[in-house]
Amino acid sequence: MAERLMARLQQQLAEKRAHNLYRQRRVIGSAQQVELLSDGKSLLSFCSNDYLGLANHPEIAVAMKRGIDRWGVGSGAAHLITGHTAAHHALEEELAEWLGRERALLFSTGYMANIGAISALMKRGDQLFEDRLNHASLIDGGLASAAAFHRYRHAGTAMLDEQLRAVESGNRMVISDGVFSMDGDIAPLQQLVVSCEQRNALLMIDDAHGIGVLGEQGRGCSAGYTQQQVPVLMATLGKAFGVFGAFVAGSETLIETLIQDARSWVYTTAPPAAMAEALRAALKIVSSDEWRREQLRQLISRFRQGAGQLGLPLMPSETPIQPLVVGEADRALRWSHALEERGILVSAIRPPTVPQGSARLRITFSATHTAAHVERLLDALDQIQRQDH
Ligand code: PMP
Repeated sequence: MAERLMARLQQQLAEKRAHNLYRQRRVIGSAQQVELLSDGKSLLSFCSNDYLGLANHPEIAVAMKRGIDRWGVGSGAAHLITGHTAAHHALEEELAEWLGRERALLFSTGYMANIGAISALMKRGDQLFEDRLNHASLIDGGLASAAAFHRYRHAGTAMLDEQLRAVESGNRMVISDGVFSMDGDIAPLQQLVVSCEQRNALLMIDDAHGIGVLGEQGRGCSAGYTQQQVPVLMATLGKAFGVFGAFVAGSETLIETLIQDARSWVYTTAPPAAMAEALRAALKIVSSDEWRREQLRQLISRFRQGAGQLGLPLMPSETPIQPLVVGEADRALRWSHALEERGILVSAIRPPTVPQGSARLRITFSATHTAAHVERLLDALDQIQRQDH
């Protein structure tokens, strides 16, 4: 009965409210940048994934506008029909060349790339191994595929080795975030590469949070690893790249397989060509603006030093994701509200996005933050910590 279902939905919503797990959107009234207008208030934001500060970059904006003049606003069809323009094609070739891969395939979102790639590659009788803290889209892709699904302890390469030894049948694939989105730590890539080589498993890395930020020319956490070592490299284009979209890069065989079988790519409208033009401009900046990565390193180092002196509960992260784990959801909300009262925006991340008891403030840095911004954040955290005891 529809009324019964509605009653259940209302009850679920009420439970979420009661447990401080109810989520709400905030309405932003400015372009994406470190100083935001939120519900008419000016806030200093430390919670976007715009790590290089490119989301409102004038050259990228001009490239998108020119793209509209050249290509119009909509692609009009899926890539396999008439939606795949020379702009999409050039972007894929430039991404592949930058990363030393044979091919790359553009997806509309990272969520779709992961769901599409995993279910195209893994079939019934195959075995899939994932880090427990992998992003929801990797977990959902695994659950949606017909493969047997194994999860190993976070960064637990010994446990992964055991699981790989125990399961000999079927094709095997190991999947890990490159940089873990809620913790900021980097996957044990070298060990993953070795385990996969020894056990004949295909390795997929989702470098959504490493691309543009880590490695030479911003090539990400797998910079320096060959296509042989990391055969399925996925990354997103709406974070450090500042725009939108995602791609999978790898061999000719991999990409042709995705073109035939990745349903979230085949059965969807191609993103606007103007978006691809913006991304081509973003790639030039990502690969050449070394100062943005240097600025991030300095901000991270100052924050960690200051937070350490204040005794704040830092996590072992060298990346722009610097979470403070405060425990229960209500405490994370309290800290987030207290920061907002001081003009600082850091959202509280609560279960089920993170495990029970590990609610946190997910602080992230952008190359457009200044040293003074970090001091402001540290001062506010200092005050809040004192009051919370
Ligand atoms: N993978 C990871 C690790 C992510 O953090 C995200 C986004 N939060 C995605 C995939 C999904 O990417 P998109 O936002 O482009 O759908």
